[in-house]
Amino acid sequence: MSELAATGPRTVDRHRLAELIKRERLLYRANFPGSWEAFSAGGQHLLGGVPMTWMRMWPGDYPLYYAAASGARLIDVDGNEFIDFCLGDSGAMAGHSPVAVQAAISRRYGEAGGATTMLPTQEAAWVAAELARRFGMQHWSFTLTATDANRWAIRLARQITRRPKILVFSYCYHGSVDEAFIVATPDGPRARPGNVGAPVDPRETTRVAEFNDAAALERELAHGDVAAVLMEPALTNIGIVLPEPGYLDAVRMLTRQYGTLLINDETHTFSAGPGGCTAAWGLQPDIVTIGKSIAGGIPAGAYGLAPELTELILNDADADINDTGGVGGTLAGNALSVAAMRATLDEVLTDEAFAGMIQVGTRFADGVQGALDLYRLPWSVVQLGARVEYRFSPEPPRTGGQSAAAGDARLDEYMHLYMINRGVLLTPFHNMALMCPATTEADADSHAAVFAAAVEDLV
Ligand code: PMP
Repeated sequence: MSELAATGPRTVDRHRLAELIKRERLLYRANFPGSWEAFSAGGQHLLGGVPMTWMRMWPGDYPLYYAAASGARLIDVDGNEFIDFCLGDSGAMAGHSPVAVQAAISRRYGEAGGATTMLPTQEAAWVAAELARRFGMQHWSFTLTATDANRWAIRLARQITRRPKILVFSYCYHGSVDEAFIVATPDGPRARPGNVGAPVDPRETTRVAEFNDAAALERELAHGDVAAVLMEPALTNIGIVLPEPGYLDAVRMLTRQYGTLLINDETHTFSAGPGGCTAAWGLQPDIVTIGKSIAGGIPAGAYGLAPELTELILNDADADINDTGGVGGTLAGNALSVAAMRATLDEVLTDEAFAGMIQVGTRFADGVQGALDLYRLPWSVVQLGARVEYRFSPEPPRTGGQSAAAGDARLDEYMHLYMINRGVLLTPFHNMALMCPATTEADADSHAAVFAAAVEDLV
């Protein structure tokens, strides 16, 4: 055993960390002057200086502005090249601009013509059949975002069960879905801090439990007023929190027992395989929702229903699902999004592609673990297929609350700045890396080398 391995885990010297962040911030400013200029110019008319306010979440005070992106590579306005493990926080899980999707879009928008007409195209049925093959739900409907897939799934669940409430897990994220902004605290449920202009107190609409706590779930479901549990089979928006053995079986058993529908939001957990966690783990939800990646970066989402639900909703005389009943969007299911979904599912995010992406994910996780072992850092790394995340806690957190408590904004900032300054992009809100079909084992090794260097500097 080496001398290093013989001693206990290290703690991070906060003074050293502060110095390193200062150094990396200066380097960032020197490396990316074109992005700084673009950001400065944007402040005049863009709210917060960026197209969407969350784009300010990147470290370094201003985001990179990109000029081009292809596969797993991105080039900024200064001409710097990056290995992109952020991949649009899953929106580009198919890789940037895959050739098959380029061709489909150009055919639909160019040669054939007509992006949005209020009429269906024949490709939609193919996409629905493919989603059914992958996720097991029989009938599908399309949206433009994963948020809308969740919103509309929730409405259908309320309509079908005639129950008012939704249950979510503490520190979940399902898009800007009003019902989901709630956390569990020792003093009871509370609106998640920062909830902007909430229409009602989420405690009126929502029950909340910690993930991996079947007893807490049962306590909430026993009220008999929960239409649906909306969940990711593994939490992915507060680090990755994997389900413990038997937990998802308990969720299914309890939801059935209390007459509550189960919605699997596979938007991020799609990384687990071609049919997400639902297929990989043999789950049996009532509804599956998905978005982001399924159209190769073109806006599209979808929700699929089990056959019993299809009958109930189509035959419900009180539910206006055709006009102004609150379920639908003018551009949802538009021909351009449908063409992009078909190409993405048929030719890019195929069963074979997932096998390769997951293999690269394992290589990525092994690289991080190797550095953690070498430098005795008490951090943990979790893999969910093509998605890998590291957290600043010795064991992977088992609930959203635990994972939130393990957050460390300064360490996040340091790791992200260090990576960007050396040509590696991670997802800004946390330490998440995603593999696309174009990501290579060499890319994973490049990350491992930069990660090890960042850690070595730190300790
Ligand atoms: N579901 C999950 C699990 C998500 O992580 C997100 C976004 N991060 C959404 C839904 C919403 O996606 P969008 O913002 O594209 O609507």
